Amino acid sequence: MSGTGTTEYDYVIVGAGSAGCVLANRLSEDRLARVLVLEAGGWDRDPWIHIPLGIGKIFPERLHDWMYFTEPEAEAAGRRIECARGKVIGGSSSINVMAYVRGHPSDYDRWAGAGLAGWSYREVLPYFRRAESWEDGANVYRGASGPLGVQRSKYRDSIIGAFIEAGRAAGHPTPRDYNGASQDGFSSVQQTIRGGRRCSAAVAYLRPALGRANLTVETAALATRILIEGKRAVGIEYTHAGRRKTVRAARDVILAGGVVNSPQLLMLSGIGDARALPALGLAPLVDLPGVGRNLQDHISVMLTYRRKGTSPFQKSMRYDRLALAIAEARLFGRGRASDVPVGATAFLRSAPDVKVPDLQLLFLAAPFPTRPYFRPLVKPSPDGFGCRVAVLRPESRGRIELASADPTAPVRIFANFFAAPGDRALLRVGIEKVREVMAQAPLLPYLAAEVAPGAGADEAAIDGFMRKTAVSVHHPIGTCRMGRASDEGAVVDPELRVRGIDGLRVVDGSVLPDLVGGNVNAPILMIAEKASDLIRGRAPLVPAELPAA
Ligand SMILES: Cc1cc2nc3c(=O)[nH]c(=O)nc-3n(C[C@H](O)[C@H](O)[C@H](O)COP(=O)(O)OP(=O)(O)OC[C@H]3O[C@@H](n4cnc5c(N)ncnc54)[C@H](O)[C@@H]3O)c2cc1C
Repeated sequence: MSGTGTTEYDYVIVGAGSAGCVLANRLSEDRLARVLVLEAGGWDRDPWIHIPLGIGKIFPERLHDWMYFTEPEAEAAGRRIECARGKVIGGSSSINVMAYVRGHPSDYDRWAGAGLAGWSYREVLPYFRRAESWEDGANVYRGASGPLGVQRSKYRDSIIGAFIEAGRAAGHPTPRDYNGASQDGFSSVQQTIRGGRRCSAAVAYLRPALGRANLTVETAALATRILIEGKRAVGIEYTHAGRRKTVRAARDVILAGGVVNSPQLLMLSGIGDARALPALGLAPLVDLPGVGRNLQDHISVMLTYRRKGTSPFQKSMRYDRLALAIAEARLFGRGRASDVPVGATAFLRSAPDVKVPDLQLLFLAAPFPTRPYFRPLVKPSPDGFGCRVAVLRPESRGRIELASADPTAPVRIFANFFAAPGDRALLRVGIEKVREVMAQAPLLPYLAAEVAPGAGADEAAIDGFMRKTAVSVHHPIGTCRMGRASDEGAVVDPELRVRGIDGLRVVDGSVLPDLVGGNVNAPILMIAEKASDLIRGRAPLVPAELPAA
């Protein structure tokens, strides 16, 4: 524990993840405000976190992870699907794939249109800009002086350019900046990497603020209950080193525990569906049936291909080369391990009359799965590449339920993937779109054969492929969703205050009312940036003046 060591602070933040790190920094800018952050995980000292290619170790081994799985998914062959969530300083931003995507402007205008005052695209754009330092410099859409480093992929493999060219040949645009004027089409992927190292929320926001005397961070501290007096949240009960402790918040308790744990903590504290809580021996204090509901996630499948020739990735996977690349990335922030072989992404419309892109492609310039090799002792995995296709605004809705009143017991996650048949139909269209692109001339020098689902797969086989292999791209949101006063399912209001109780806010991925058209880390950072002004009572940033369409 660093800092003052007092047991009363102005703000107590639960969780040092994407949102929690932003809040820790912005709230402690006010030198008179005492800020405590409680994080269940440890410090982000593991070098694999900071080496971008380390994702190839962190993810399969599920390092720094809460180790969640969904309940058996009825429409996905009864599988318990992995639901990775970071349990470490930086939270999921310390273990994610680092793609930087804001979603489509219309996502935010939809929120504002549903009565979420202050959340239109023009109003949130200044917060996206404030957060980032974009490598191309500032313009009306992009910021150049924020804490978060954002760059285009630097990964070198000619197949990435060929994929973008194949998109063009299939009739799609190729925008230079999908976070700018237009999202549609094929582009180089943007990433939260700076100087060849992961720019997590901890690196961008928390570490630079650690020297402030008014900021305290306690790790291995699991929040177990919100302390409530009358109708006001006054603090947090937590465990640390086997001891139960309490801390008081003079101004706000802010939950930033993420989409799974924030609703869990609310329910453990008696805030949730008043009809369900007593069954677990919990006394309902605030009846909010929306807590844990409205879970949404981007469902996806990966098409895989055998590659002609040998890819740069495959070459770099020889043990000795890999070891050198990792050392180079660790020491100097350069070389093959200082980026990930994702390279390109695309935003597509499933049909000409669809108003905004409803499918996202993520290209992978590496075989999947893959492993290091050293002939003749260990053979390389067959060379290849892949393309993941994800449904951007699925209709299926899941939920999170308490399994027990024990705060150390994991919750039950019902993702309900494909519960709405339209999601599977859309994913099937996505598979066809990928195949159209793969058939274009620029990819012919690279593509030997489709491995999965396989060129000969008929409709039934593709259906089986989706059921057996579909996974989330790790963008669950919505379990404490924002909504206007008349919205009974809303958990927080547009200022992110929990309804029916004072002194309590939720600021993390759980407050998104619905999915945006893209990866969600950037939107969550934006939400926390905006929340910090709301919490400090500062005037919102001036809405952006956008060029006429
Ligand atoms: C494998 C993976 C890949 C991803 N790839 C991308 C990508 O490429 N691009 C992208 O935009 N998004 C990606 N995401 C999603 C994105 O990173 C997350 O949605 C985002 O980081 C979530 O932010 P958050 O603040 O809501 O929660 P988190 O960042 O998950 O933070 C929650 C924090 O709270 C802590 N906590 C929880 N409960 C408690 C408690 N009771 N007491 C104390 N501390 C607690 C947790 O340990 C954690 O540190 C990915 C996610 C994963 C897991």
